[in-house]
Amino acid sequence: MSWHLKERLQKIVAAEQGTLVYAPGSRQPMALVYPNTYHVGMSNLGMHIIYEQINSRGDTACERLFLPDKKTLDEYIRTNTPLLTLENQLPLYEFPLIAFAVSFEMDYFNLLAILLTGKVPVLAADRGDSDPLVIIGGPCATFNPEPLADFVDVCIIGEGEEVIQDFLDSYYDSMHQGLPREELLLRLAQIEGVYVPRFYQPVYADDGIIECYERHPALPATKVRRRFIKDLGKYPAQTVIVTSETEFKDMFLIEVARGCGRHCRFCMAGYCFRNPRVRPLAQIAEGVKRAKLLRAKVGLMGAAISDYPEIDALCQLILDAGLTMSVASLRADSLTPGLVEALAASGHKTITLAPEAGSERMRRVINKGITDEHLFHAIAAATMAGIPHVRLYTMIGLPGESEQDVEAIIEMVHKVKDHMEFLGNKAMVTVSINPFIPKPFTPFQWLPMASMEEVSSRLKYIQTILKKRKGVEVLIEQPKEAYIQSVLARGDRRLGQVLLIAATNGGVKGWKQALKAHQVSEEFYLYRPRGEDEVLPWDNLSMGFDTAYLLAEYHQARAEKYTPPCSAGCKRCGVCQE
Ligand code: SF4
Ligand code: SF4
Repeated sequence: MSWHLKERLQKIVAAEQGTLVYAPGSRQPMALVYPNTYHVGMSNLGMHIIYEQINSRGDTACERLFLPDKKTLDEYIRTNTPLLTLENQLPLYEFPLIAFAVSFEMDYFNLLAILLTGKVPVLAADRGDSDPLVIIGGPCATFNPEPLADFVDVCIIGEGEEVIQDFLDSYYDSMHQGLPREELLLRLAQIEGVYVPRFYQPVYADDGIIECYERHPALPATKVRRRFIKDLGKYPAQTVIVTSETEFKDMFLIEVARGCGRHCRFCMAGYCFRNPRVRPLAQIAEGVKRAKLLRAKVGLMGAAISDYPEIDALCQLILDAGLTMSVASLRADSLTPGLVEALAASGHKTITLAPEAGSERMRRVINKGITDEHLFHAIAAATMAGIPHVRLYTMIGLPGESEQDVEAIIEMVHKVKDHMEFLGNKAMVTVSINPFIPKPFTPFQWLPMASMEEVSSRLKYIQTILKKRKGVEVLIEQPKEAYIQSVLARGDRRLGQVLLIAATNGGVKGWKQALKAHQVSEEFYLYRPRGEDEVLPWDNLSMGFDTAYLLAEYHQARAEKYTPPCSAGCKRCGVCQE
């Protein structure tokens, strides 16, 4: 055991405000793990929300753990110290419950590294009655937990605030009754929003496609339905622990809305976290009061902040409190003068817009609902308010993308730059281009990904042309990583073995070798069009709508037809029942 490592953790806690430390033994312990660094994990508002929910019960003490940086991890290994939690520096393997918040596919490698270094039996099948229950929640657990199925006991599907309470009530009751592990898991699997992968065994056909899942006979013959909070007003969501060691170090985060009703057809978050819900302004005002005690800036969180119905009043409220503000996301078609002026008054120098595609045709395919006019209007409003820089997010390799659509990305950037110059704005345009990844529970879930060669050559072409224009900067994500992410996003349980071999051989770096060692073809996951009636790895789960709805949206995409946003009284997709 390294005292140096313990001291380092104590120092981190000492530099935080809002941390809850309970004496060991005074409450039931539960570890909450973010499979990335402290800096990344503490920037995730979901971690704060669940930390508070667990501690607010009165019977459970939540202790956090993050992936140590490379140097610290080496020290853990060299000194044979098991991974330790922050609050009381306890070994991870001693916790009866270990919950991971999983937001990104690339963190799967880290999750396994944490189990291995934490000395927790890595395979769920190897864990006995006295071993921890490993739980995953967050976006990845919600849309397709299958690549992690061999390593986890329980998956929380959807939003965690309510399901974590039902889960813990049932868990403590079962422990009290002395239920063995299998019976405990069967009982937990009855909770709405809880998926226990071991009770759903995939059967594969000779061609490698899933033929069916064999469900445990004690479980109902229905899909596991995602949980979501109907009334956000019941659950305030804001920064709980303030620390300077995060991406948002100078900000107090407040969630203003959840879900998005815009129906962009590529957007997993839009499909898996609908319907759109907003927090009452009065509740956010309480958050702003708390923010004033701790920080000078408020970070507004939500899928599309400019869609918040009382956005101008909210901005005014923040400025009147003597605070500045920042936003997670904007839509070019719902920017208001009040919002732009508040951002300018807060010192913002960049407006970030996400047209996602260059041609209006392609924006119709993906149902983005943004026109060039919206972009120009938003840029003019920002320029006039004193926000000069423009950042554009777009994708390459979208379904049915033609050479004209690629040219249109270049044209869009030129038009934006011309427009800025017309306005007398000489600032930089930054274009960020990411490969499109088809995601589960979207109308594009059946489609192959565009080939890496094609995506790379199109990216290179755009970069070469736009390099010639002064004041334009092109940022591209390394396609290699996007392709690993894509395999994992729509992968099945067989990838578990690949992940495990990779995790023991340098993580992401060991991916290719692990695929080879396990004779798994990446092409099968990346480039194979799925049949419309194929059993998909995530078919045990339901987001509240059925496959026919997604297929209808896919046909709308092919016909370049617009799907209007969610609206009051709508029952179109099946999510809003009451
Ligand atoms: S506006 Fe579109 S891309 Fe943005 S969160 Fe909503 S559905 Fe997703
Ligand atoms: S039922 Fe209508 S309002 Fe509700 S999530 Fe679906 S599309 Fe949106």
